[in-house]
Amino acid sequence: MPDPVLIVGAGFSGAVLARQLAELADVKSIVIDARDHIAGNCHTERDAETGIMVHTFGPHIFHTDRADVWAYVNRFSEFRPFVNRVKATTDRGVFSLPVNLHTINQFFGTSMSPAEAREFIQEKADTSIAEPANFEEQALKFIGRELYEAFFYGYTKKQWGCDPTELPAAILSRLPVRFSYDDNYYNSPFQGMPAEGYTALIAKILDHPNIEVRLNTRYEHAMAEQFGHVFYTGPLDEYFAHRLGRLSYRTVFWEKKKSEGDFQGVAVMNYPDPKLPYTRIHEHKHFTPWEKHDSTLAFVEYSKETGPDDIPYYPKRLAADKELLASYATLANAEQKVSFLGRLATYRYMDMHQVIGEAIDFADAWLAAKSSGAKTPTFPAKAAL
Ligand SMILES: Cc1cc2nc3c(=O)[nH]c(=O)nc-3n(C[C@H](O)[C@H](O)[C@H](O)COP(=O)(O)OP(=O)(O)OC[C@H]3O[C@@H](n4cnc5c(N)ncnc54)[C@H](O)[C@@H]3O)c2cc1C
Repeated sequence: MPDPVLIVGAGFSGAVLARQLAELADVKSIVIDARDHIAGNCHTERDAETGIMVHTFGPHIFHTDRADVWAYVNRFSEFRPFVNRVKATTDRGVFSLPVNLHTINQFFGTSMSPAEAREFIQEKADTSIAEPANFEEQALKFIGRELYEAFFYGYTKKQWGCDPTELPAAILSRLPVRFSYDDNYYNSPFQGMPAEGYTALIAKILDHPNIEVRLNTRYEHAMAEQFGHVFYTGPLDEYFAHRLGRLSYRTVFWEKKKSEGDFQGVAVMNYPDPKLPYTRIHEHKHFTPWEKHDSTLAFVEYSKETGPDDIPYYPKRLAADKELLASYATLANAEQKVSFLGRLATYRYMDMHQVIGEAIDFADAWLAAKSSGAKTPTFPAKAAL
């Protein structure tokens, strides 16, 4: 059996990597996590009082285009059908998101066909903007001012804590509108919710004789000496003790409301109105529509800058961050027996299916390099740091 490896982080990245190395090459790993639970930010736990499955670090809906990733997660948990149908409360009423034919017809008081709506939105679009310089210009170029102000301006401003004119145009890469009545939030062919939550799923992934999990254990560099290799899935700047500075993130926090019955009739309700301090409310019992609960828990979500003691959630990736990231990547590439993967170590926003797919691919690449005697990869190929 090869030397044991140390895997820092028991989220999807660390767990899938440990399992792949164990199954493909009989590698033994110790998986450590600073928290007192596995599953990282995907952690779910039943609320002791109501029995509702709570997504502790924000709502998580599984969706993917990759058949192999879908087959992979289904090996470890039964998945129940769940389609995220988001709504938005505005001062003009409640609308369906993402903006679709129903939203357009309701918003403009029309009953247009798909082709008529497409033409109508093309007329609304600001054609004077040739090269959008920022998020706002990109949105105006795609959909015009009315829909932008109703659904994007306030939400984006609250989520990122700055005016949308200060954000890069690339954040809105595609036309954020559908010309059909499809109100499924995601386009992916595979979608669902693990029947007993994400923590039970990740516990099954980690349940292998070659894998030992140690919780409440923060990584220290001295630990590396006892292992053949270290895979680090924590924040990249923290690994280097922030010696070049801090990468910037937005964080979120919640106000929990318990009541009887049904709070809002849907899992996720957005509040794009810039005058309201929160961005959305999620009601977690609607993520398990096959379960019955008399009480309910709703979480009002707020965004803010990430302080030193906050959990980093959304990488901001401003120009200064990208420069800092490149400098940290240079330091990382100089490490001899450490690899960096996952959303924090590569400083990218990644959905669950992306980190799972990348951990599967990374295990293959690392094992191939190891067996051929080549230098093992520092980052996943797609991270392109
Ligand atoms: C609010 C929110 C909602 C989201 N919703 C969705 C969704 O609906 N669908 C979807 O697909 N994805 C969603 N995501 C993305 C999802 O959370 C990530 O894809 C996933 O958590 C990434 O897994 P990871 O293992 O890379 O990182 P993490 O889950 O963050 O795991 C990293 C682990 O490393 C540990 N760690 C860090 N540093 C150290 C250290 N020094 N020593 C020891 N342990 C350490 C941490 O404690 C953590 O447990 C959402 C993310 C957020 C923020």
